[in-house]
Amino acid sequence: MVDSAFSIEQNEEISARCAQEKSHLGQLTDKRKFLCNGCGVKLTCINWGKNPSNIKRCYFTPTDRNVLHYLDCPKIDSVERKSQIKKESDMATNLIQTGNEINMCVSKEKAISNIIDESINSSMMNVTRSKNTQINSPTKTSKKANLYSLASFVELYDNPKIQNESTIINASGEKMTLNELFKEANDLNNSSSKSIHIFYGTGKLEKMSKNNEILMIKSDDFPKTIFANLKLVERLNANLIKKYLGTGERVNVYFRGRYDMNDEHPYKPFHDGKVYMDVYFTNM
Ligand SMILES: [Zn+2]
Repeated sequence: MVDSAFSIEQNEEISARCAQEKSHLGQLTDKRKFLCNGCGVKLTCINWGKNPSNIKRCYFTPTDRNVLHYLDCPKIDSVERKSQIKKESDMATNLIQTGNEINMCVSKEKAISNIIDESINSSMMNVTRSKNTQINSPTKTSKKANLYSLASFVELYDNPKIQNESTIINASGEKMTLNELFKEANDLNNSSSKSIHIFYGTGKLEKMSKNNEILMIKSDDFPKTIFANLKLVERLNANLIKKYLGTGERVNVYFRGRYDMNDEHPYKPFHDGKVYMDVYFTNM
């Protein structure tokens, strides 16, 4: 639910209240001609054409209930974001429990955050297997769940219904189990990682004194401080940042990507150059 959207008919951002009133007056004709101004998802205006004096609340909701706002969308609130993370991981859980694999996908700028449940012909897949991972021969067709959000992977990893040692994740063409995907950040000391992993540990959240827009994630577990744009990281982590920034209290920190100890900028996020898409915090 969002309170404003881009009207395709009017070619400008418009509030839900205003759109609803214009629908009653016949100045707007199609309740589906709206896009989210944050992520571009198609939206529908609720209570279309009704008498405005009888309407208590106006809002826009995704037109297709399987095509939700992107999780980073600045327009959705934390309640909606939470329910989307849960929805994503519930769908992925169902697919895993019926023997399917999870694809870790890079999110496109204006991507849809749903899980694309597609049938693919396994023989056409370019499969790279890591030596230590036993993988059953692929059946003729298998379903794949495409999952973008780091938060959804953390939900899966913590989900007691999921067998982390047998759930297969396909990350950048490399297959590994959920257990292999998650690595303790203190393993990063004196090492570099060529494969994509989700590194986890605990850390404190601070603003940089010279530049208030920079968030510093300081940790004993991660070998070096992680720097990120505060505004952008807030999209996925608003509540925890509000609660813990500058307090000196620790949160669980997840970073997704590679680590190169020899580089001046050692953290290589999964989304190239976009650390904010690949750091996630939870309560300890
Ligand atoms: Zn949106």
